[in-house]
Order: sequence, then structure tokens, then C-alpha cells
Amino acid sequence: MPDKPSLAREQRAEKVVNNLGVKVHHFEPSGRQIWTVVGIEGDALVDYDPSETRQQYCSCDDFHFRVLGGTVSECYHLIAARKAREENRYSKIIFSDIEYVSFLRSLLADIFSRIS
Ligand SMILES: [Zn+2]
Repeated sequence: MPDKPSLAREQRAEKVVNNLGVKVHHFEPSGRQIWTVVGIEGDALVDYDPSETRQQYCSCDDFHFRVLGGTVSECYHLIAARKAREENRYSKIIFSDIEYVSFLRSLLADIFSRIS
């Protein structure tokens, strides 16, 4: 069993939630949503499923190395996303579906630019 997230991760997540760093980018009229968490290293793309029927995902290094590696159960982005949804403390930004591809493209370009 992976360890529970460390106190440092919990505290970081709390800070992010307090700053409304968890954002849902909501696209109309399809209703598609992209969740991001503003982090120290830049924005992370998260896929947090409250029903926990699917595998969760985050684009950060901590997730790839330590969550997928089985060392910890969640990175601080996923903790923040969970808390923000539970407490209803996140920012919602409405976009048009026309903007979906360019939004995703620039988000992914930003994330990939940090992977080297
Ligand atoms: Zn993460």
C-alpha cells in the first residue's frame, strides 16, 4: 500500500485551494471540462474523478514518479482538486467549444515545455 500523502503535500494543496488555484475550464455548449491546478512549477492538468471508478491522472513529475511508482497515493495537485470539489472552492472559467483545441494545445505545450 502506498503511504498517505505527506503533510507537506497536504499543506501545499491547502494553499492552492485557498488561492483558488483549482480551475475548471468549462466549454459551451458541449459541457466538456478541463481541470487544472496552478502549481509552483506551472499549471498541471488533472483528471480527478470523484466517483473513483477511474484511474486519476496528473501531469506533474510527482504523479509520474511517486504516485505511479506506488510511493504515495496522491500528488498535491490531486489532493487540491479533491478538496476544492468537496468544499466547492474552485474557479470556473467559461469558454466556447471553438476555443477547445487551442486551449488544450497551449496547455499541453506549456506542460511539455517543462519536461526535459
Ligand atoms: Zn500533480
